[in-house]
Amino acid sequence: MDVVVVGDGPGGLSAALFLAKNGLQVVVFGQDKTAMHWALLKNYLGFAEIHGSEFQKRAREQVSALGARIEDRRVESVEAVSDGFETTLDDGETIASRFLILSEGKSPRLAKQLGLEFNEQKGLETDRNGKTSMPGVYAVGRLARPGRSQAIISAGDGAAAAIDILSTIKGEDFADWDSPPES
Ligand SMILES: Cc1cc2nc3c(=O)[nH]c(=O)nc-3n(C[C@H](O)[C@H](O)[C@H](O)COP(=O)(O)OP(=O)(O)OC[C@H]3O[C@@H](n4cnc5c(N)ncnc54)[C@H](O)[C@@H]3O)c2cc1C
Repeated sequence: MDVVVVGDGPGGLSAALFLAKNGLQVVVFGQDKTAMHWALLKNYLGFAEIHGSEFQKRAREQVSALGARIEDRRVESVEAVSDGFETTLDDGETIASRFLILSEGKSPRLAKQLGLEFNEQKGLETDRNGKTSMPGVYAVGRLARPGRSQAIISAGDGAAAAIDILSTIKGEDFADWDSPPES
């Protein structure tokens, strides 16, 4: 697996969208328990108003259609190993990956498990692409900005992390741009 994404809110799903669309093998673990089910979005650009559950349904369909796997499973633990990361699920299965994206939402459990420092006000420290202090580990969305969490920001964070991973693999800056067919 190229990338394991922990968390199926807008942060994790947006990261998975960009990665899968550009040919990487990506799996998202989450049990559809995102805070989005309590949200009525009136501030997501492009939607005048949409229920968070409807947004999530569309997002999951879009991400799956682009080739990412979304699995209804809980991640028990994550560990850095010599050539990447080992993710252990609640049934004991382990998944190896080169990169790890944490989009855990309000709970920094796995981030703390990896030894990353979490500040209750500021969240997890990252650079502007979501990179944490641990090489290969990204943190996006509410996890990285607990007091300022917005769906559109989580989605943007996820996209930035994915673009950074794609740029790292390609060895140069990468932008995922498409154009309409010539009319
Ligand atoms: C009442 C309410 C109203 C809101 N209204 C708005 C609004 O109007 N506009 C707006 O922009 N935002 C709103 N929000 C905030 C919005 O819901 C969040 O900004 C958004 O959900 C954050 O997305 P995220 O992907 O960062 O994290 P989350 O959506 O929290 O997703 C994290 C996911 O990771 C999963 N997860 C965590 N640990 C594990 C693990 N170990 N294994 C597997 N899965 C795991 C969680 O179950 C969860 O599904 C509202 C929130 C609430 C509670």
